[in-house]
Amino acid sequence: MVVLGVPIDSGTGGRPGARFGPEAIRGASALIAGNLYHVGLETEIFEYLRIVDVGDVPVTPGQHERNLDAAEKWVRELMSVTERVVVLGGDHSVLLPVLRAVADAHGPVSFVHWDAHADTWDGGPEHLLTHATAVRRVIEEGLTNQVFQIGLRGYGPSRETFAWAAENGVEHWTMMDVEETGLRDIVQQVISTATGKVYLSIDIDVLDPSYAPGTGTPEPGGLTSRELLAGIRDLVRNTDVVGMDVVEVAPPYDHADVTALVANRCVLEFLAATAQRKAAG
Ligand code: MN
Ligand code: MN
Repeated sequence: MVVLGVPIDSGTGGRPGARFGPEAIRGASALIAGNLYHVGLETEIFEYLRIVDVGDVPVTPGQHERNLDAAEKWVRELMSVTERVVVLGGDHSVLLPVLRAVADAHGPVSFVHWDAHADTWDGGPEHLLTHATAVRRVIEEGLTNQVFQIGLRGYGPSRETFAWAAENGVEHWTMMDVEETGLRDIVQQVISTATGKVYLSIDIDVLDPSYAPGTGTPEPGGLTSRELLAGIRDLVRNTDVVGMDVVEVAPPYDHADVTALVANRCVLEFLAATAQRKAAG
């Protein structure tokens, strides 16, 4: 298991700051003393996993495409020595290079996308790869065989964009669906439909701004931290998750490190649930 940071925010449409995400997400580990024993899962992570944090991809300010190419190259190399990768963003545009490398190693994945936003905007030639178009590009490049989106809300993209997504096999659950059905039942539907290797992408703005104020495009009416952690845990325990990213953590807007803290715990939940899956054989 390898952890890698991609400190860029040049794919951001609104407020930047996610370039400081990896540093803040790592920093939130400092509050844990000693071991990594998950008290709910009754599992010590390091008993079952060897984990290496290789630091951040070296990036050059203003060189968006070049930085994304560097991220792809790094993940490609890492996938030759490890089965699973955790990527700390960075804005959501890091998804495309990471999934290119993961799909190259594992084949097209089932893609579970947690976000307030669909990120399926076409964008046109001027916006080929931003944080609002990354999921569109991933689908167009055939890096996934199934896409599940959870937590959508707010305004946009357009009806036409959602029609395009539906035609391309994207299933989505809005926050209205979460209110009616409950998050864990929705996750159960994903678990029963997903096939093969699974990749999780967690845009931290899927959480309500009260739980994650430190992000560039907050949208009221989102998930609680408890729902998100339970959702990750359920998915990782019941499917074969080979990679995960946590993106859009923007520390300049954070308060009391709450966003960095929950982003850190999303990673730990993935690690602990993976360790438990290994323990169970
Ligand atoms: Mn978002
Ligand atoms: Mn996003």
